[in-house]
Amino acid sequence: MDVLVINAGSSSIKADLLDANDGARRVSLRVERVGTADCFARWDGGPPESLGAADHESALAAALPRLMAAARGGKVEVVGHRVVHGGERFVTPSAIDDDLVAELHKISHLAPLHNPANIAGIEAARSLLPDALHVAVFDTAFHATLPRRARTYALPYELSERLGLRRYGFHGTSHAWVAGLAAQWLDADLRDLRVVTCHLGNGASLCAVEYGRSVDTTMGMTPVEGLAMGTRAGDVDPGILIDLLRRGEVDVDGLDHLLNRESGLFGLSGVGNDLRDIEARAAAGEDRCQLAVNVYCHRIVRLLGGMVAVMGGVDAIVFCGGVGENSAQIRSRVASRLGYLGARLDEERNATARVSRGDQAVARISGDNSRVALLVAATDEELAIARATVSVGRDRHVLDDGAPSGIPIAISARHIHLTCEAVDQLFGPGHQLTPRKPLSQPGQFACEETLTVVGPRRRLESVRVLGPERRACQVEISRTDEFHLGLDAPVRASGDVAKSPGVTLIGPAGELELTEGVICAWRHIHMRPEDAERFGVRDKDVVDVAIDSEGRDLVFGDVLVRVSPKYVLEMHVDTDEANAAELRSGAEGVLDATGATARVLRRRQDTTRNHEEPR
Ligand code: AMP
Repeated sequence: MDVLVINAGSSSIKADLLDANDGARRVSLRVERVGTADCFARWDGGPPESLGAADHESALAAALPRLMAAARGGKVEVVGHRVVHGGERFVTPSAIDDDLVAELHKISHLAPLHNPANIAGIEAARSLLPDALHVAVFDTAFHATLPRRARTYALPYELSERLGLRRYGFHGTSHAWVAGLAAQWLDADLRDLRVVTCHLGNGASLCAVEYGRSVDTTMGMTPVEGLAMGTRAGDVDPGILIDLLRRGEVDVDGLDHLLNRESGLFGLSGVGNDLRDIEARAAAGEDRCQLAVNVYCHRIVRLLGGMVAVMGGVDAIVFCGGVGENSAQIRSRVASRLGYLGARLDEERNATARVSRGDQAVARISGDNSRVALLVAATDEELAIARATVSVGRDRHVLDDGAPSGIPIAISARHIHLTCEAVDQLFGPGHQLTPRKPLSQPGQFACEETLTVVGPRRRLESVRVLGPERRACQVEISRTDEFHLGLDAPVRASGDVAKSPGVTLIGPAGELELTEGVICAWRHIHMRPEDAERFGVRDKDVVDVAIDSEGRDLVFGDVLVRVSPKYVLEMHVDTDEANAAELRSGAEGVLDATGATARVLRRRQDTTRNHEEPR
C-alpha cells in the first residue's frame, strides 16, 4: 500500500510517497522557501526546480501530478500527516476531519513554530486530495503514557490545571520506532526491555521506554526543554529568562527567538548549528566549538542518567537522528561515561557503524562484555507514519489490502465438554459423540448429544455437548444461567476449573455428579501468531476490545488473548455479553458468528492463568 507522508514546516514541505510494508520510497519531495517568491522543489535529492512564489497549497498542487504518477495505480488513497503537538486530546493516530482541524487550531499555541505549519499542510493536502483518507500522526502521542509525576511541573497546581501546563514530550514517533528496532535486533519483546532512546538530530530528546511505554522524556510542554540542540537552548535556569526580560535585553518574541533559534550548538559555537562543522573546528582547536561539543555531550550524559534512574536500570541505549546515526565522536564521548551502568563501548564497532533504513537499520557498538546493549538505529519516521496511517484506514474500513480489519465475533451458548469416561457413563459404554456441526476453531464440533444440567435451584434442559472429548469435564454457562441453576461460577479461561462449583449431568444412559467444572467462560479472542503480531499482543495478554454493533456499541475490558497457530481469528463472548452489545447471530447453535466485528483497543497486562488445549 502506497502512502503519501507529509511533514509540513513553516517554510518547507517534506513529502514522501512510500510503500507502507517495506518502506521503499517511490519518490521524495523537498520543498523549501515556501511562502516566499523563490520557492523551490527538489525531487529525490536532485537539483532545485523553481516553483516561483508559492504557499503550501500551490507548492503541493504543483508537485501533485508527479507524486500521483509515482503512486501504484496513479492514485493516492491515504495521506499521513506529521503533527508535532496533539495536546491532551490526540494520543493516537487520528483520521482528519473538520473537527480535528478545528481542535488543532485551538492547541496551536502549544507548538507555535510547528502546528500552524502542520495545519497548513493538512489543509492544502485535503483540498487537493479530497477523496483520500488523511490521518494525523502526533509526535506527542507516544508520550501519552508519561506518569503524572513525570509530566507535572512543580508550578502552582491550579495554574497548571487552568492553563494546561504540563510536559508532553516530542519525537515520539521516532522514539517508538527505534525502541521497536532495538527489540527486534535483540530478538526480545519490547515489553520485556528498558530502553533509553536518544534522538539526536537538529532537535534532540531522550526517552525512557520502560517495557514498551514512554515513562519519561527530556522535552516538555514545548520542544525547548532538555538537551542542548542545534539551535535550541534546552534546560536553562528560568531565573536567567526572568532577568533577561527584566533588564529589557529581550521582549517575549525576542526570548522565543533566542531560546529556539540562537542558542544550542549555534549559540555556543558561533559557527552555525551543523555538528559536522563544529566537530571539525573543535578538532582544529577552536575553543568555542570544543565547548559546544562538551556542553552537548555533558547534557546527554546527565539527562541519560536520569532516564535510567527513572526505570531503575537499562537493557539497551539506542542512538538515532542525524547526530546519533552519524557522529561516532558524540556516541563515543557519551558512551565512555556510561561505565557505571556496565555499558562498554567497542570503539572499533562504533567507528565503523553504518546504518540505513531497511535491512541495515541497526548496528551494535557495545562490546561483547557489555551489560547494556549500545545500538545505533536508523530512524524512519515516515515509515512509522505510513504504517500508522494504514492502520487507521483499516480500522475505519476505508482500506482493504487483504488484511482483516476487525475481529469476527461469535456467540458461545451454554455448552458442555466431556471426558471419554463421562461420555461412557452418560450415553452408554463405547458411545461415540456424533458431530452435528463443525465449529470455527479447527477440530472442534458441536455434537448431536445434549444433556440436562441440574443445579441446586433449577435445571437446564438440552445443553449441547461439544467435541472432541477432553481431559476434564467442563460446563460453560452464562451469568444468567448461574442464577437459574442457583450457583456462583467463577469467570475462568477454559481448562481452569479448580475449585469451581459442580453440577449433576443427566444423560440417556446415566447421571454424573461433577464435584467441580462449572465456569463462566472468560471472554476471549483466538488468534494466530501473525494476528497477534498485527494487533501488538501476545498469548495470555488481557486487552480492551471495542465491539462495533448496530446501535449498541460496547467496549469490553478484561478480554483474554489466546494465541496458537491452530486457531482462527475470532472473539468469543457468551450470550449475556452478546445481548449487552446487541449482537445477533444468523443461525441457531452453540457458537454462531454474528457478522459484527471487534477491535483491540489496548493491551493491558499479562496474566498467569493457565488454560488447556482440547485433547
Ligand atoms: P536531523 O535533524 O536528524 O536531520 O539531524 C541533522 C543534524 O545531524 C545536522 O544538523 C548535523 O548537525 C548532524 N549530522 C548529520 N550528519 C552528521 C555527521 N556525519 N557527523 C556529525 N553530525 C552530523
